[in-house]
Amino acid sequence: MEINRRDFITKMSAIAALSVLPSSFVAAMGNEKVEKAKPKYPTLKCDVVVVGAGPGGVPAAIAAARQGAKVILLEEDNMPGGAPVDMYVPFICGGPRVGVFQEMIQVLNAKHTIGGRTCETFGKTGSDGKNHWWMPGSYAEVIYQLLEKEENITLMCAAPVVGVKVKTSGNRNQVTGVRIMRNGDYQDIDAAVTIDATGNGLIADMAGCEYMFGSEAKSDYNEPVGIEVADGKVQPCTWMLISERIKRNAILPIDKLKGSSAVEDNLNRWVKADDKEDMIRRDAGIYLHWGRTVYCKDTRDPLLLAQAQQEALERLQENLEIWHEAGYAVHLAPKLGVREVRRIKGEYVLTANDLIAGTMHDDVIAHAHYSFDVWGMKIPEEMKHIGPYGIPYRSILPTKTEGLLTAGRIISATRIAHSSLRVQPICSNIGMAAGTAAAMSALNQTGLRSIDIKQLQDRLASMGLFDGLKKK
Ligand SMILES: Cc1cc2nc3c(=O)[nH]c(=O)nc-3n(C[C@H](O)[C@H](O)[C@H](O)COP(=O)(O)OP(=O)(O)OC[C@H]3O[C@@H](n4cnc5c(N)ncnc54)[C@H](O)[C@@H]3O)c2cc1C
Repeated sequence: MEINRRDFITKMSAIAALSVLPSSFVAAMGNEKVEKAKPKYPTLKCDVVVVGAGPGGVPAAIAAARQGAKVILLEEDNMPGGAPVDMYVPFICGGPRVGVFQEMIQVLNAKHTIGGRTCETFGKTGSDGKNHWWMPGSYAEVIYQLLEKEENITLMCAAPVVGVKVKTSGNRNQVTGVRIMRNGDYQDIDAAVTIDATGNGLIADMAGCEYMFGSEAKSDYNEPVGIEVADGKVQPCTWMLISERIKRNAILPIDKLKGSSAVEDNLNRWVKADDKEDMIRRDAGIYLHWGRTVYCKDTRDPLLLAQAQQEALERLQENLEIWHEAGYAVHLAPKLGVREVRRIKGEYVLTANDLIAGTMHDDVIAHAHYSFDVWGMKIPEEMKHIGPYGIPYRSILPTKTEGLLTAGRIISATRIAHSSLRVQPICSNIGMAAGTAAAMSALNQTGLRSIDIKQLQDRLASMGLFDGLKKK
């Protein structure tokens, strides 16, 4: 399902008709108060502003900073990390695990590991041959340490972006910065390039970009896998949690827990609900749970998300009592785990066919390797295992828009392709490519469509971004 912001187009047509070319603000839901406000705080200027400090945004900021760009990294939460921290997804799938992601997990594995089981496919690329998990707080700590070393980055947390600065000319929009909410007032940040790494694509949406939401039909992009008739549904959400023993000798009553899917213990393996003996033998004291999975009709809408979270809580209630009675504390993730929101339409839409064929386009900027993983949809076993494949530059370049790149899971892909590229190492590799491209554009004063792709690829290669697959 493709969407254009009607409000935005109406507003932009009016602006174009008056030939008003200076930047104007566009705010979420066309919020006039935000658009007309005179910010109390002085405008900040930088080369690259990255919105969202998750698996896509942090590597984007670091890559841009290491190219010499002055970067402002904005995060609406009180700490960086994104889903691994605020949705308790401190567990990784897919690869290759290279670049900033490799730097990060090497420290996490060395100092903070809770459990690690052998992972033959990706383990050797940037790791010790195992898939680990860590406490979400450890993840945030390591990100802080990485960011601290980068003199060119200014991190601002608790700084939600509420508006986008857009200049319009004909049918093209030039994004020139963003507006944040700061301490009850507003502040503008001007940048040569803005990177939307929000995981929800709100920045691109506010800038008037076309986006895709929910399931397409197989025939829309000639994909061999998917559904026959588009239903506009996104993947379900899961409320993640960690249970931890607080009473001596307590054993997790795994057989009594209802519907809490797989859990990962601190002794290297998945725990199976139907194997209580194995569970008792291993007697682990801390577990990562895929708590309760619920459908949210529209993951763009905070009210519907809150309702989905409430439903998850109600369905968790019975288990919560079992955990507490058994002597286990439960740490609920601060946010409901949202797998899918907007996918921003770019100059190229990556499809299941690209992933199955392992296509490496001429403008490949990131390598990726993971299966199709659409929660709530059955994918035939023989079709699940795909790749490696490449992410083209065109898929992070929103159509009809200048000055804006996307990074992380919101890039231009069908829902089936998105189900694979949404995992953290791939989001990180995309982020590094976006950050490097943004810095090249900002520092050389060339438009994002005019940067030298070969030079971009050479720079990414020199950072080891294309090494992971060869070592498999
Ligand atoms: C339940 C669940 C289970 C998963 N399991 C796994 C797994 O096992 N392994 C794996 O590798 N991946 C897993 N994933 C996928 C993966 O975690 C995400 O796809 C990935 O984190 C996406 O990274 P991102 O940077 O694009 O977005 P996010 O991680 O969502 O980060 C975006 C950041 O932007 C911030 N932000 C948003 N809007 C604004 C704004 N307006 N202003 C400022 N900041 C803003 C957010 O607060 C957030 O910190 C899972 C995801 C979920 C939800």
